[in-house]
Amino acid sequence: MQGVGFRPFVFRLARANTLSGWVYNDEEGLEIFVEGSDQGLEAFVQELKATPPPAARIAEIEVRSSEPAGLDDFTIRDSRRQDSPTTRISPDLAVCDDCLKELFDPADEHYHYPYINCTNCGPRYSVVMQLPYDRQNTTMARWPLDVFCARQYDDPWNRRFHAQPVACELCGPSYYLQSRDETVLGNEPSICLAAKLLARGVILAVKGLGGYHLACDARNTSAVQALRERKYRKEKPFALMVPNLGVARQIVEVSAEAESLLTSVARPIVLMPARIDLPLIAPDSRELGVMLPYTPLHHLLFGFGAPEVLVMTSANRSSEPIAFEDSDALERLSAIADAFLVGERPIARRIDDSVTRVGVLGPAVLRRSRGYAPGAVTTIPTRRSILALGADLKNSITLVVDGQAFVSQHIGDLSDYESRRAFQQTVDDLVAMYDLDWNDLLLVHDRHPQYASTLHAQGRAPFERRSVQHHRAHIASVLAERREWNTRVVGVSFDGTGYGDDGTIWGGEIFVGSVAEGFDRIAHLRPALLPGGDAAAQNPVQAAAGFLHAIGDLPELKSPPFSFPDRYDDAKALIRKDIRTFATTSMGRLFDAAASLLGFTREVSFEGQAAMWLEQLARHARAGDAYAFPFDGKELDFRPLLQSVAQDRSLGRRCPEIARAFQRGIARGLNTAITALCDSHRVATVVVSGGVFQNELLLEDLKASLEPFPIALWANHEVPSNDGGISLGQAALAAFGRFAPEAPETKHA
Ligand SMILES: [Zn+2]
Ligand SMILES: [Zn+2]
Repeated sequence: MQGVGFRPFVFRLARANTLSGWVYNDEEGLEIFVEGSDQGLEAFVQELKATPPPAARIAEIEVRSSEPAGLDDFTIRDSRRQDSPTTRISPDLAVCDDCLKELFDPADEHYHYPYINCTNCGPRYSVVMQLPYDRQNTTMARWPLDVFCARQYDDPWNRRFHAQPVACELCGPSYYLQSRDETVLGNEPSICLAAKLLARGVILAVKGLGGYHLACDARNTSAVQALRERKYRKEKPFALMVPNLGVARQIVEVSAEAESLLTSVARPIVLMPARIDLPLIAPDSRELGVMLPYTPLHHLLFGFGAPEVLVMTSANRSSEPIAFEDSDALERLSAIADAFLVGERPIARRIDDSVTRVGVLGPAVLRRSRGYAPGAVTTIPTRRSILALGADLKNSITLVVDGQAFVSQHIGDLSDYESRRAFQQTVDDLVAMYDLDWNDLLLVHDRHPQYASTLHAQGRAPFERRSVQHHRAHIASVLAERREWNTRVVGVSFDGTGYGDDGTIWGGEIFVGSVAEGFDRIAHLRPALLPGGDAAAQNPVQAAAGFLHAIGDLPELKSPPFSFPDRYDDAKALIRKDIRTFATTSMGRLFDAAASLLGFTREVSFEGQAAMWLEQLARHARAGDAYAFPFDGKELDFRPLLQSVAQDRSLGRRCPEIARAFQRGIARGLNTAITALCDSHRVATVVVSGGVFQNELLLEDLKASLEPFPIALWANHEVPSNDGGISLGQAALAAFGRFAPEAPETKHA
């Protein structure tokens, strides 16, 4: 991998053990030739394994002996093919401990310099404009090195040997602070003032690694309230940044696994159980998303006295992508931020913070972006170059080159114009970066004929393109992570929406098969109606109208305790007149229907909100009964489930207990289906994927219920189980030729 300091590390290690030889990168990885004493060789190999550079990911070390060549020096050879298409672009790296020490050492040349970095740390993907990864191909090109930096850059013994973004106070870019009435120049004065403003309750736009953040004191209620109002972000949780683990432990419960995610070189946001009450930060949630500082600038802000718990949220309005260009940020954010802390180093492309959690089944990525992208998540056995365009929600794309599957950063929801532009840019960017010819690419897209990503693929004609069915892609994404191409599994794909084989809205699907042989749909949720189609995702009561239509004996839902709004009647009218009403097997909408019966009757302000609300509600009750969710070998029947929810609510049962019994019912019904289908298809592995499985309580119940059975339960770890993982699954199925048949002529939302 380029830019993680491996070759200089090998150089120093060889010299330290008085070995001669050489090192270079080739398509397969790093090749090292060393000769010298047995003792020296042994120590070299041992240290190579034990203490590689922090950002290097070593898949395998192979040691072979060969004839000595009689070399008398150790050299770093130029890479044979630095422009090789399989050259990996390193993700951005958090600032390392050595650089941090220098950052706060008054005797060091990099004292208080916000762009300090070295071969072990700093920006990569966010500064590289094209390959090979050389200074002139990064956004640092316009800052020539001064004598001091050049000496470090040229010295193989130095930590900054060939560190492309190196800079110092004298030769590198700077930060400045701009508020309505003044501009403060200079790194120290501007960052110092920014910290003071934050302490005073100001909303600050801060230019970071992959874009702008909006920051404010998380404990200052009026500042957070103002941020919500100005950003048009009513309820979606805000991420927090704290200076260190100690402060993190004061506000959230940090498990050992969460700690290793928090402190990993990717430095993602980690969702953890809250220990303090910050209702404005994450309404209706028991979790807070927390990250540690990852740029020198963040450390300086805290060092100069910024509040210890900062809101650090992507700078954008509502659903727009994160702002990353200065003029655009100043324009778009002028009504939100009171002041701007602007850094001169341009950002090559926008990259949001990644979001992770320690799940019931292991680490899970909810948004895969900074620190991970554009890393290869797996290898797929194919010689074909494949470009998989993902789905329209939470879009990401996957590029397969020489079998390596590179997954892009999170791009966003393609209903937004700016996100569609970002999508197009990312496609062009990755294809250009790997120097691919469009004629050689197999384009893969979702089967939905109206998806923006589908239309984009069509617009690329005459290049070859094929489609892959949405829910099969979810299952394949899990198997691709594990390189399990032939393992036959029962695959459970539960999400909000996806285009089905029959043109209806799927989302509660069970398959059997493998990536290599393809997946057959063998069972599903009993179909319900969905007035308004995909637009019903905005209004849980619309889903309720559709699902409850199939149930005869219901209490009056317009009166208390339900008090459904008029939108419910409007939706019922659509069904009666058969206007814009579609068939659906969506589990996401089933959760919406249950949530509205339990009181969530307003519009959602972000995707999946009602289901998350229901899960949190259920967490306030102890495990007890489970409502019936029968499986007849083909269909899971939601009618008894919803009927119990409605009845118990009208009888005055506590809502948390109803929510818990609903969730347990889902898990138990699913358990019945899984065990029956594993038995009849002689399969011992179950794969679960789709956004519904971000519900940790559901996973917990399902895992517990499967423990008595000899059935393995697999889920996503490297890519999100939501639609952010679709592109990887598309690429895997395409590599094995498992495309969707031609789309049928059926009405669809
Ligand atoms: Zn460093
Ligand atoms: Zn310099």
